[in-house]
Amino acid sequence: MSFAALAGFVVGALAILFYRNQIEAPSRSSAADDGVETGAALPQGVASVLAVLPSSAVVLDAHDRVLRASSAARAFGLVKGDRLMAAELLALARQVRRDGEIRESEIDVAGHKFGQETTNFAVRVAPLGSYGQVLVLAEDQTERRRVEAVRRDFVANVSHELKTPVGALSLLAETIQDAADDPEAVTRFSGRMQHEAARLNYLVQDLITLSRIQGAEAIPTPGQVSIDEAVNDALDHCNTKAAAKDIALVTGGTEGLRIWGDDELLVTALRNLIDNAVAYSPEHTRVVVSVRPAGDSVEISVSDQGIGIPEESLERIFERFFRVDAARSRATGGTGLGLAIVKHVAAAHAGEVSVWSKEGSGSTFTLRLPAFGGTAVAVPPAIPLETAQ
Ligand code: ADP
Repeated sequence: MSFAALAGFVVGALAILFYRNQIEAPSRSSAADDGVETGAALPQGVASVLAVLPSSAVVLDAHDRVLRASSAARAFGLVKGDRLMAAELLALARQVRRDGEIRESEIDVAGHKFGQETTNFAVRVAPLGSYGQVLVLAEDQTERRRVEAVRRDFVANVSHELKTPVGALSLLAETIQDAADDPEAVTRFSGRMQHEAARLNYLVQDLITLSRIQGAEAIPTPGQVSIDEAVNDALDHCNTKAAAKDIALVTGGTEGLRIWGDDELLVTALRNLIDNAVAYSPEHTRVVVSVRPAGDSVEISVSDQGIGIPEESLERIFERFFRVDAARSRATGGTGLGLAIVKHVAAAHAGEVSVWSKEGSGSTFTLRLPAFGGTAVAVPPAIPLETAQ
């Protein structure tokens, strides 16, 4: 139920309670009966309704004194003693008392403790009976707004990322048209068109993967996953790119470990890590994929001898579309979504991913995932691990 609908329902329910109790004569409610702090007389039942509300609730008397305030209202600093602290809210309450109209608004309340941020509230203010009492309901929507802003940013980023290859494709198509009688140029430009189309395809695929693993049911049918098989599958995908740069892909560590989860997602995550290790390493180096038991988890690390990541970027690299060097990422066919996918795959398995890196020396990404059956025990591998190259 939306806040507006919930607030509407509560206001209606309280109005009924109020009128019923006016006939039955208002009673004094105690603090002990509902866990809500109290000050003075309230109609019977109103206090109980307020006590179960998730949002901040305040009842003011005819003289703007707080008759009742939920603990949330006090915690947020909306109420101090018997006073409503937000001037904007008080003005709204007075207007409502004057003309009896229900009002809705949004207000920002500065943090009342040092270092506390401003809180944004959706508020609904309604008259409560004929004694000049006013009900104020306020819902903290700071988090909802933050999520909305992140989503807006993401949509803007996706549009921007899509524009580049689509723009290039349209330009290349025009160029080919103009060069129709130059077969060499046609071959060259159609090759570039294929390259841009492939980029578009990677981006769309990564977006689909990301939205799938961010869904409510990231792993609809979990099962036993053999780490050896997942590592070998991921290495198979990366072999060609590694061979082109004479990069040796090496595996090591404990064989036969298993996790509970989704093999396709694990392969996707490992492939992204190995792909990056190859993309951000110079020629003739090594990428090592190593597996080891770690208590109730399995650790899979991918280490390279590549360019490394500057310290100030380390905490941002798992963000969607964050790149240390945008030009380099594009040149290697990166979508900027690889590590965001890895992070979500880890989270979907109740695990985590961490990174160690030193500029100029290399990077190690470590996936730590809960082991199958609660302890990391090795079973004889179905397919032996081997050096992939
Ligand atoms: P991209 O598609 O750009 O590689 P990712 O999400 O996979 O996007 O990675 C984000 C950024 O993190 C990359 O653009 C790159 O700057 C940095 N990065 C990731 N892996 C490595 C690595 N192994 N070595 C150096 N930099 C890396």
